[in-house]
Amino acid sequence: MGTKGHATLRAKEREQGNTRGKTTTADGGRRIPDTPVIAFIEGDGIGPDIWAATRRVLEAAVGTAYGDRRKIQWQEVLAGGKAYKETGEWLSKETLQAIRDYGIAIKGPLTTPVGEGIRSINVVLRQRLGLYACIRPIRHITGVPSPMRHPDRVNMIVFRENTEDVYAGIEWEAESRGARRVIAFLRDRMGVDVDRDSAIGIKPMSRGASRRLVARAIQYALEHHLPSVTLVHKGNIMKYTEGAFMKWGYEVAQEMFGDDVVFESDRGGADEHASPAGKVIIKDRIADMMFQQVLLRPEAYHVIATPNLNGDYLSDALAAQVGGLGMAPGANIGDSCAVFEATHGTAPKYAGKDKANPVSLILSGVMMLEHLGWPEAALAIEQAIQKTISDGVVTYDLARQMPDVRDVKCSEFAERVVERLR
Ligand code: NAP
Repeated sequence: MGTKGHATLRAKEREQGNTRGKTTTADGGRRIPDTPVIAFIEGDGIGPDIWAATRRVLEAAVGTAYGDRRKIQWQEVLAGGKAYKETGEWLSKETLQAIRDYGIAIKGPLTTPVGEGIRSINVVLRQRLGLYACIRPIRHITGVPSPMRHPDRVNMIVFRENTEDVYAGIEWEAESRGARRVIAFLRDRMGVDVDRDSAIGIKPMSRGASRRLVARAIQYALEHHLPSVTLVHKGNIMKYTEGAFMKWGYEVAQEMFGDDVVFESDRGGADEHASPAGKVIIKDRIADMMFQQVLLRPEAYHVIATPNLNGDYLSDALAAQVGGLGMAPGANIGDSCAVFEATHGTAPKYAGKDKANPVSLILSGVMMLEHLGWPEAALAIEQAIQKTISDGVVTYDLARQMPDVRDVKCSEFAERVVERLR
């Protein structure tokens, strides 16, 4: 965690003469109070169901692990459908400022209309809060059904660049004034011909954003003693964006971590599993090929660093290998703020049915507890989920793939996890 965000927040706290409750994040010098204020957004669709289940489990785990000594103070902030209904705005400045001030938030999924005017609220949140790393661990829980023969070999963590690429939202509808102007500019000034009825999108990828993402991934691998970081890109086709991502990744690896990394390309085909003592192997793979690698040889990959769109596709595909989107947690992390959320969306067909699998958001909450430095509560939840599933208590998504199990509602699954926490 960078120091600038801490300094700003600490200054703000001092100004307010109030150091209780506010939460800054991660590494050295951070101060996590025993009663941190954490912002939450319920979310749309299945959001309210999985959030209620998650809150129940997080509170029980913190209570069991720390008694009265520690407690989360929840502060609701509005975004999405609920915000629009109550305030006429999908995402207000107040919500963004509250998350900035508290430093940590957890959220349910938010709807984005496809092909319509408003931009993704999720993307805006990530960009405006500087949440540049989307971090998604993919690990199999014993007993969860999987299409893999050896799902236990899938154990990766994806670092997806979260602020640029085609997600920057710079695009013009086909035959709009904007599209026509860009096409004319390309023709007249750049000598490039584009069909006149084309829609136009722009894919910006900067050296700075690419380097900070890759640096974060390598730092994580070193801290967690993981053998490799793989840069996943489509640089064979998009040379100056995706190709540059790879180049900048190697560059930052050399400059910032030179003594702690080795490059696969320098090792002349040496066994890629055997990293020299304490060193992280940096390798790269072309994105399309990577999709077959993670199915056929998942054990060869540990940390993945990749641009925004690749990361979005790859993390959903990886989630399928360990039980589906209902099992896939995530976190969006910046230098002064962190927002925890599941990998999946609002799953509208299950909205309000108390049916969805809450594990994705509960495990995002586990990541949040680890981020707070409360590992006892985090570990207790992981063990309770494992035990609940081993006892054959699961939601519909797992139940349809498992014989002789109890197919329970979202809220009941949470209750059964809470029982196993005690
Ligand atoms: P989705 O909401 O992620 O889910 C589609 C399917 O995935 C569901 O129908 C269900 O599959 C399965 N699934 C997802 N979450 C599950 C859970 N907790 N438990 C069990 N199964 C789960 O994808 P989508 O339909 O493409 O997107 C819907 C909306 O969400 C869109 O507006 C999109 O923009 C938005 N979205 C938001 C976020 C976010 O807030 N971060 C992320 C992605 C998408 P089955 O039908 O097979 O049971």
